[in-house]
Amino acid sequence: LACLIERFVADNDTESITQPEITDDGVLKDLDIEGSVDYGTNATVLAAKDFGGMYAVKPLAVIRPAGADDVARVIRQALHSPTLTVAARGNGHSINGQAMAHNGLVIDMKSMGDNNRIDVNVTSMYADVGGGALWADVLKRCVLGYGLAPKSWTDYLDLTVGGTLSNAGVSGQAFRYGPQTSTVTELEVVTGNGERTVCSNSQNSELFFSVLGGLGQFGIITRARVLLQPAPDMVRWIRVVYSEFDEFTRDAELLIMSQESFNYVEGFVLANSDDPVNGWPSVPLDSNQTFDPTQLPKHTGPVLYCLEVALHYSNHDDPSTVNKMVEKLLGRLRYIEHLRFEIDLSYMNFLLRVKHVEQAARASGIWDTPHPWLNMFVSKRDIAAFNRIMFQKILKNGVNGPMLTYPLLRSKWDNRSSVALPQGEIFYLVALLRFSHSHPKESEIKQMVAQNQEVLQTCINNGFDFKLYLPHYESTVEWKKHFGDQWGRFVERKSQFDPKAVLAPGQKIFTRNH
Ligand code: FAD
Repeated sequence: LACLIERFVADNDTESITQPEITDDGVLKDLDIEGSVDYGTNATVLAAKDFGGMYAVKPLAVIRPAGADDVARVIRQALHSPTLTVAARGNGHSINGQAMAHNGLVIDMKSMGDNNRIDVNVTSMYADVGGGALWADVLKRCVLGYGLAPKSWTDYLDLTVGGTLSNAGVSGQAFRYGPQTSTVTELEVVTGNGERTVCSNSQNSELFFSVLGGLGQFGIITRARVLLQPAPDMVRWIRVVYSEFDEFTRDAELLIMSQESFNYVEGFVLANSDDPVNGWPSVPLDSNQTFDPTQLPKHTGPVLYCLEVALHYSNHDDPSTVNKMVEKLLGRLRYIEHLRFEIDLSYMNFLLRVKHVEQAARASGIWDTPHPWLNMFVSKRDIAAFNRIMFQKILKNGVNGPMLTYPLLRSKWDNRSSVALPQGEIFYLVALLRFSHSHPKESEIKQMVAQNQEVLQTCINNGFDFKLYLPHYESTVEWKKHFGDQWGRFVERKSQFDPKAVLAPGQKIFTRNH
């Protein structure tokens, strides 16, 4: 992990604060923007970090644009240089340096100020949202101001709109509405040619679909039109436990295929042990609930499966109607009786639930340590084998954080977008959300990375149909494999919208050319 070592070097770098002479070829000295250019160590060191904490790639400068025109000016200026690259940085929640730019320009999208505002159109039920706005702010404004809310979310909301739309954006609502990329109808994008363009399904549609799930390769999203629906007041949040994987998947698939279902369906795998992080205590939703392991069948294996669902309701609903609906939906499922946990909470608190996890992790120092997370989509065809080989063996002790797995429907994804998916209508998200303790040794992080590699290699050796989500590769050859028969389209889109490969160099898909 040379990157880890680099990180320590970067942290201790005391290079001078102002550096007006700019780039190797002086190209930045003509940059005329309304916002600001920051060459200072504080800004560049910050832009050299991300949530993954394993890469440290310092940019030349950090740009704080006043708006989309500044973004266009920066890209056009970079095009004048033979080498300069530009990376939009959302909230830096990538794992593998995807929002970094070695000696390039990092555009801090969160600092777009008024341009990150959230304009709600009540009549047409959409919000126009700045690309650097956080989903948490979109939630608060839409719900508190208008009683409306976007349809599809991520589990955690301190992510930017442009950042998740560049990947997909999935959570427990995606089985019904598709990923977040399926719930936007218009984008304003500044392309790698430096052109500010509005695009949609019907206008500049090639650009629209390129950018959705496009890993920042074709343009910088400066505004998105997000579809809204009436927000519920309350949520019944429920977890039920299974000892058998086939029953867990049968029920999860039943719920995502049914017309009448919960509003949210997810699931996770846990160790069949009393380990406070990886085992039974990770299931209860409230401190007054306990997991009673004597309820488990005699020959339960090394791991258990938890189906997590939620039902929306309104303050006006009669409690007995809500209870009846819950019992009706749960009545079809085969979870272990008595291993059922539930709480009622406001819709906002439900959507902000991971914020509490963040606060606790910050307090114990494990939010800022490295996170070698692995996210993938695994075809339904191979998920049972994946369970046997990975969850029940390689990963049976857990990853010190959630091991999510839940099914999604391919038909809810637009295959004109740039995301690569496995074959078949049903595929599972598998997310290994690893945490360390507060002072991990480099060797411990290396072990986690090595286990990710083992999982990936085992998938390949077994011929599993899978794709990385939030993909990360080091070479064009690997990217070509990732995109498979979509590679030609991806390359064609690149040559149209960012022919000099100025944008998002941290993805390591293309090399800057002139
Ligand atoms: P960054 O990491 O800053 O950027 C990601 C990539 O997009 C970079 O290549 C960057 O250059 C590019 N980019 C950023 N902004 C723009 C823009 N405006 N226009 C074009 N390109 C841009 N994902 C899910 O789908 N579901 C989840 O539930 C989920 N939960 C998460 C929880 C946590 C705690 C973390 C750390 C991540 C989670 N993610 C989840 C992953 C998240 O969607 C990605 O990290 C995503 O990149 C958003 O993060 P960001 O806004 O910080 O973007």
